[in-house]
Amino acid sequence: MFNPMQTMKALSIDLGGSHATLAVVENKQILISKEIAVDSLGDLLPLLPEFKTILFQLLAHIQVPVSSCIGLAMSFCGMIDVHTSRVVSTNLKFEDALGLDLPGWCQREFGIPFALENDARMALLGEWYAGAAQGAEDVVMITLGTGVGGAVLAGGKPLRTRQVQGGCIGGHIPVLFTGRRCTCGAFGCMEAEASGWALPSIAKEWPGFESSRLAKIDTINFRSLFEFAREGDRVSIELRDRCLHIWACGTVGLVHMFGPERVIFGGGVMRSGDEILPYIRDYVRKYSWTPNGTVSILPAALGNDAALLSAIPLLCGTASQLS
Ligand SMILES: [Zn+2]
Repeated sequence: MFNPMQTMKALSIDLGGSHATLAVVENKQILISKEIAVDSLGDLLPLLPEFKTILFQLLAHIQVPVSSCIGLAMSFCGMIDVHTSRVVSTNLKFEDALGLDLPGWCQREFGIPFALENDARMALLGEWYAGAAQGAEDVVMITLGTGVGGAVLAGGKPLRTRQVQGGCIGGHIPVLFTGRRCTCGAFGCMEAEASGWALPSIAKEWPGFESSRLAKIDTINFRSLFEFAREGDRVSIELRDRCLHIWACGTVGLVHMFGPERVIFGGGVMRSGDEILPYIRDYVRKYSWTPNGTVSILPAALGNDAALLSAIPLLCGTASQLS
C-alpha cells in the first residue's frame, strides 16, 4: 500500500510526441534525469534498448542498484488499459505500441514491476502527489497546448473506466455544436475550437486576418497571439478573447460533470496563465452551479516534472490493486 512517509525510489519515463525524459525519482524528488529527442511518427520498439541503456547509466551515476527501485512507470501519449499496462489507442503516435508487451520488456531487462498510464492522468497524479493538487480529493486537470488534455481525480483516485478514456479526454468536450470538425471525429470540441493545432486555421479564416500581425509570421501559435493581443492587434485580441471564452465554457462543463474542488491548468499555453486564469475564474464563478462553494482555479506547479513525479503513487496504486 502507498505510504507517503516511506522512502521509495522508482524509474520513470515521460514519453511525449517529440521527446522522452527518463529519470530516477525518490518520492517527490527527481534524483537525476535525461531528455532525448524522439519521433512519435516512428515506432516505440526501436527506442526501448536506448531507454534501457540511459536508465542504467542514470542509476550508475548516482550509485543506485535497480533492485532498490519499486518499479518502472511510463507516461504515454495515448489511451491505456492500466490493468494490463498495454496501449489501447495512440492517435497516430508510436502506432506499434498497441502490440508491445511493455511489462514483459521491463521484467526481462530490469526485473522490476511496470506501470503504464496516459500522460494527462500521470500529470494530474504528479500534481496531486507533489504539486498544485496536494491535499485535494476531487480535481480536474486541463492542459492547454498543441491539444487540450484532461484528467480527473475523483475521491482521491484517478477516474478510470472500462472504456479506458473515462475522464481523460476533457479537451473533447463539445463547446459549439455548429463548430469545427475535430481530429476525434466530433464537432466543436474545446480542442477543435481553441488549441495549438487548430489556431492557425481558425486565425486564417478570421475577418481582417490579412491585415493582422498574425498574417506576417510563419508559425501562428499562442505565444504570438497573446503577445500581439497585448500590443493591441485587433484580430489577435478578438481571437485571444474567443479562446479564453471557449476554455472557460469547457471548464464549466467539466466542473458540472465532475464536481471538483480544484481545477488545475497546465501545458505550454500557460506561459500566459496570468491572462488566462483570471478570465476563467471569473467565468466559472458567474456561470457554474457549485452549491458547495467556489472552485479553486490554479496553475500547475510542476510543469514537465509532473508526469515523472507520478511514478511512486502510480506504482504503489498498481501494486495495491494487484494485491
Ligand atoms: Zn474532439
